[in-house]
Amino acid sequence: MNDFPAGLVRDDLRDFTGYASARTSGPTDDAPRIWLNANESGTPSLVDPQGAVRRYPDPQPPDLVAALAAHYGVDAGRVVVGRGSDEAIELLVRSLCRPGADAVVVCSPTFGMYGVSARLHGVPVLDVPQRDTGTGFVTDPGAVARAALGSGARVVFLASPGNPTGAVVPLADLARLAAALSDQAVLVVDEAYQEFTEGPSATTLLAEHPTLVVLRTLSKAHALAAARVGVALAHPGLATVLRRVQAPYPVPVPVTRLALAALAPDAVRGTGHRVAQVRRDRERLADTLAADPRIRGVYRGQGNFVLARCTDADGVLADLRASGVVVRDLRHMVGLDDAVRVTVGAPEEVAAVGTALGTRLRGTGEPGPAPMTAPGTRT
Ligand SMILES: *Cc1c(COP(=O)(O)O)cnc(C)c1O
Repeated sequence: MNDFPAGLVRDDLRDFTGYASARTSGPTDDAPRIWLNANESGTPSLVDPQGAVRRYPDPQPPDLVAALAAHYGVDAGRVVVGRGSDEAIELLVRSLCRPGADAVVVCSPTFGMYGVSARLHGVPVLDVPQRDTGTGFVTDPGAVARAALGSGARVVFLASPGNPTGAVVPLADLARLAAALSDQAVLVVDEAYQEFTEGPSATTLLAEHPTLVVLRTLSKAHALAAARVGVALAHPGLATVLRRVQAPYPVPVPVTRLALAALAPDAVRGTGHRVAQVRRDRERLADTLAADPRIRGVYRGQGNFVLARCTDADGVLADLRASGVVVRDLRHMVGLDDAVRVTVGAPEEVAAVGTALGTRLRGTGEPGPAPMTAPGTRT
């Protein structure tokens, strides 16, 4: 395997070993019987009679790491488990960018946490906006490479499928970009919505490209947003650095249990069924939105949401709100000053959007479609 170029890690962190916790610095020889090295309670709580959570957890629970590695088809040494992919984003910025010096590159409109993490770390954010074709968004890999190389950026964040665009960056573009940047910057491909696409994951490029990192999460397709489990899949050399930079004990024991259960075959099959339903409903939701005369454009992206541009966003939002439906108002985002994002919810929730918009159309006598589907008549 190619080495991860050590020069990409912040020079002041290259020999940093991180916090030595009772778990990371404990004995590894024949198992002791009595553990008195971490100031834990010697007896369990009334609320935890078996003592399941009495002790600090393993920072990277080996069974969970193994299950995630198998699920994503990578070696365990590449897996860094964290508090959602949000934490992985944070770890990457902190490990690779010198505060006040090295930049990160993003391609707007995109996920806000890249900019937030950069800002909190005191590093500049360079934006290479995606091109809006009217029906989709396109990332220009050449422009991204020029911006990153020209600015001395250390991290490039691309979400694919993108949020809020739903746009997929072709794997060939990702491979070329990772290669073009490899002497200077890490390419992070955030695949929070990968399950909702048909195409291959960028994990298939990891072996070839030591400076590529792929982010995955259990928050979206796996329906565990509140459990906070996400991973960075990276070169083992970089993974080691990320684990050292990570705040102690990122994975609570109850979370590990839940995540392991979610990665068992039955649960994964269930996730597959839910994802298939979302893909079907995504089209239904896009059709519903496109049929409203106040919506002038719908982006049929590859996530579990639909992005729509409005001529009367206030009206659309008000009608939805009157039916108790909240969607994401994106009008504060650069280039999206007329846009809303609607999540593909449960089938009856998708139907409720149609009802909310369709009711208004009938009620005012304006031309427009009947709701795509009435509640309870899912197809
Ligand atoms: C939702 C989302 C995430 C979230 O991740 P967590 O694993 O819940 O922290 C990451 N990236 C993108 C692009 C998202 O939309």
